[in-house]
Amino acid sequence: MDCNEAKTCIRPFLDGTCPPLKAGAFLKHIKTCPSCYEELETGCLIRMTDKDFQDRPEGYDLNKMMDAVIEKEKKKQNTFISALAFGFFMILGLAGVVVLYLNGLL
Ligand SMILES: [Zn+2]
Repeated sequence: MDCNEAKTCIRPFLDGTCPPLKAGAFLKHIKTCPSCYEELETGCLIRMTDKDFQDRPEGYDLNKMMDAVIEKEKKKQNTFISALAFGFFMILGLAGVVVLYLNGLL
């Protein structure tokens, strides 16, 4: 993913609507690209509303917020990969049953 593509991911990423594969590529990109990371930080800040400030009397820590946003996405990624692996093995299992059936072994 290049910077132009990464920049189009920032909004959906913060909305949580970024497709998992894209979000994964985006996370990889911001790890190595300070410029895009900064854009994500800015996007994160823009989303802070007055309500957020009221809910956090201790103020807020942008680094912590960014960690939370990234952690949340990583968890989503893991769930996605597990679901993908599960689906893959289900299909493999089904294919196995079909092969056995076709060979008259079931
Ligand atoms: Zn970049």
